[in-house]
Amino acid sequence: MADCQRILCSVGSCIYNAGDDNLCKLDTIQVSAAAKSDSGAPYDETLCASYKTHAKKK
Ligand code: SF4
Repeated sequence: MADCQRILCSVGSCIYNAGDDNLCKLDTIQVSAAAKSDSGAPYDETLCASYKTHAKKK
């Protein structure tokens, strides 16, 4: 991919987030809709599927 694109992101709980710079460290990400979503609302239709939490899963 060309170096001209950056992914701005402020999700501090993601291991790929460079919080001080408001940037994602990945070159590419996958954006997907939430399961069974058809609301048309951005918070349902545009989730970052590349997200990985710092926290350990219970
Ligand atoms: S993987 Fe997604 S949620 Fe995580 S820093 Fe990158 S854009 Fe943000």
